Amino acid sequence: MIVPTQSRERHIRRTKIIATIGPASRDEETLTRLIRAGVDTVRLNFSHGTADEHAHVVRLVRGIEQRVGRAVGVLQDLQGPRLRTGPLAGGAPVMLRDGAELVLTAREWPEGTADMVSVNYPRLPQDVRPGDRLLLADGALELEVARSDGTDIHTVVLQGGELGERKGINTPNINISLASPTEKDRNDITRGVLMGVDHIALSFVRTPDEIEATRGMLRSLGAANVSIIAKVERSEAIDNFDDIMRVSDGIMVARGDLGVDLGVERVPVIQKELVRRTNHRRVPVIVATQMLESMIGSRRPTRAEASDVANAVLEGADAVMLSAETSIGAFPVEAVQTMDRVIREAEVSEAYREVSRRAAADNSPDGQDRKIARAVVGLLADIDAAALIVFSPDDHMPRMLSLERPTAPVIAFTDSRALYRRMALWHAVQPQWGERHDNTDALVGYMLTEAQERGLARAGDQVVVARLAPRETSDAPSFISVLRIPHQPRGRQA
Ligand code: PEP
Repeated sequence: MIVPTQSRERHIRRTKIIATIGPASRDEETLTRLIRAGVDTVRLNFSHGTADEHAHVVRLVRGIEQRVGRAVGVLQDLQGPRLRTGPLAGGAPVMLRDGAELVLTAREWPEGTADMVSVNYPRLPQDVRPGDRLLLADGALELEVARSDGTDIHTVVLQGGELGERKGINTPNINISLASPTEKDRNDITRGVLMGVDHIALSFVRTPDEIEATRGMLRSLGAANVSIIAKVERSEAIDNFDDIMRVSDGIMVARGDLGVDLGVERVPVIQKELVRRTNHRRVPVIVATQMLESMIGSRRPTRAEASDVANAVLEGADAVMLSAETSIGAFPVEAVQTMDRVIREAEVSEAYREVSRRAAADNSPDGQDRKIARAVVGLLADIDAAALIVFSPDDHMPRMLSLERPTAPVIAFTDSRALYRRMALWHAVQPQWGERHDNTDALVGYMLTEAQERGLARAGDQVVVARLAPRETSDAPSFISVLRIPHQPRGRQA
């Protein structure tokens, strides 16, 4: 179906964009352009950069957010138990030849060569068995374990090539005893909380206990509201997926390591399956990595990359993520603009309405709040309302509404800074900084006027207006009304 231009122009993008910030984008001007181009949440990758560099980015983002007048969340992505090779003699890459022997040593070994390189995890020699495969540098190089003597792993190079310093090691099918969060992660979480991050992404998660341990730590730091995203990038996370999902605030399909650990051929089907299961359980899901990879060095994406972004949207992703494209790429702003355009085009299509239909057909609501969210979203679709305008004292109800895949944007007012920023990641939710009004008429008048003045609704639009307090906090009553945006904003009449 051809979509009228007017629908495109009025369309408020629902699928959120996360952009990783790095050397190519951490200056104020580029960050401002990225946010203006549509970044909803910035990702700070704690595998790279210093805590001071990340803290500087958070300060800049907070300033830009005020100037641009749009909520921007901060996602702290922890390194997790990432195994790495060590330094090389003179810092120069070494050539590993097919069939050669290479020792990976857990000893201090600052002068790595093509014969021996150190690893950053002392227990690795105890975790491996003869015949195990180790993949280096994103799977570009492959080693087979011949034997291990407690400190040194003797391997044979199956797939050779150039090895640089501190390259990632993937260990498919090997049970590594290192858990998330690591000691470095714990230090970084403490720093992140002080910086005021909104979400934490936990890398190489294997079990729900690792999420619970992180949550316990956040609670003890007085930051229980920071949401925890589990990165699915190991086969153990797939095996324990339902349990991990049950205790996480969100899931990231981390296709980079997933592709190395399980093989690239398995990534598309696993992605579809994880998005389907998270949608069904009403858990937000982020599809990540290499979405517009060629834009690291080119102004235009490949057609396959544009399709990848659109397909993630049509599958039901809550958010899509840019990594190297915005952190080290030559065209970070163009990458965000491209992603924004591709998402919009996908979202105005007939195919996208299927995402809402699927959610509506999935009628297994558990709990009263979900039933209320379903009823509100059902009403929105039935009367074809232009927007749902809500005030909520916490992000519970906006998040529930978002996960019911509303057919119109959720304009969510709040007077909590933390909530305002956190909601920037939730699908279809447009966080709005606003005043609290205990009187219902005053609240409705205020929200209608502000929605119109901020360009989110037009005079004559039919909208659903609600205040949805979770059951426990019933100090102000919940209500739902169907209204039209007045031609003259309320409170502005002569
Ligand atoms: C990934 O592996 O896809 C991912 C998002 O993790 P990282 O970029 O931290 O390796």
